[in-house]
Amino acid sequence: RPRVLSGIQPTAGSFHLGNYLGAVRQYVALQDANDAFYMVVDLHAITVPQDPAELRANTRVSAAQLLAAGLDPDRCALFVQSHVPEHAQLAWVMNCLTGFGEASRMTQFKDKSAKQGSDSASVGLFTYPILQVADILVYQANAVPVGEDQRQHVELTRDLAQRFNSRFGDTFTVPEAYIVKETAKIYDLQDPTVKMSKSASSPKGIVNLLDPPSQTAKKIKSAVTDTGTEVRFDEKEKPGVSNLLAIHSAISGTPVAELEERFAGRMYGDFKKEVAEVLVDFVTPFQQRFHEFHDDPAELDRTLAKGAAKAREVASVTLATAYDKVGFLPPL
Ligand code: ATP
Ligand code: MG
Repeated sequence: RPRVLSGIQPTAGSFHLGNYLGAVRQYVALQDANDAFYMVVDLHAITVPQDPAELRANTRVSAAQLLAAGLDPDRCALFVQSHVPEHAQLAWVMNCLTGFGEASRMTQFKDKSAKQGSDSASVGLFTYPILQVADILVYQANAVPVGEDQRQHVELTRDLAQRFNSRFGDTFTVPEAYIVKETAKIYDLQDPTVKMSKSASSPKGIVNLLDPPSQTAKKIKSAVTDTGTEVRFDEKEKPGVSNLLAIHSAISGTPVAELEERFAGRMYGDFKKEVAEVLVDFVTPFQQRFHEFHDDPAELDRTLAKGAAKAREVASVTLATAYDKVGFLPPL
């Protein structure tokens, strides 16, 4: 069966709508036809300063949201990245195969380090994409469900897999990004030209799945649109309205064209009200399911331990092969 791998950061606790529509929803859809590996990427989370108690708490919050979204631990491996040491171990090898200039071209690093200032940005933030390369390759993944912002990192993964294979002999599967066009990039509600982001969006710009539903409704109603009056999908001229159309359509399952028709001649206020309703109807049961999983941390931890064991079965084999290929003396 094809293999699928993806991960999500526990930095903010709650996932936002972009995480869900761009990535997590695809995790759920892909778990049946694939051997699927999904993780909470705590190693990635410490590339920016973290509070230890918060990180620990948010790791469980993240795992519980993945379960609430529909991941089934019997049909996929659901685990915490730091529980599988092979990620960090393979990352070192990948670091040594990556050119400094090549890593310097990663736009996410450029964006994030520009925000932090190059003196406070860590080397970990710089090598983050290379850890991600190891995350993917250690499972021999065929497909990586992610949002558009991760395309460049998956491209780097392909390059490094091919480089390793040509230097040391065929070892790694060359993966492909699995990106669903309609929801590949959900935009910030206050600045619909930039992606909704855990670390960069303002509170009013981001819809968190765990926000009180009334707050979500308020945020939608104050989303930035334009001075026009037409509810029409046009990303260039009407980025705010287009973003709301994409969100409504993805959650409600109503085609965008049908929404345009429904709101022809009506005001933005009417439209926003319905987007808010659609979201409230979605997050309310999601939050109930979240609480069921989150309120039983012992069971949650057992689920994660089971997932890590499943993941290590695969990761340890790949790591041993890669270590052998690069010329490490096998331990007795
Ligand atoms: P940060 O901005 O701090 O990197 P993030 O919001 O990007 O946080 P991640 O945990 O890094 O969250 O990303 C998890 C998954 O969600 C990734 O697959 C990413 O591509 C996807 N994703 C993130 N933001 C969006 C978005 N606005 N639209 C669609 N997909 C997104
Ligand atoms: Mg991100």
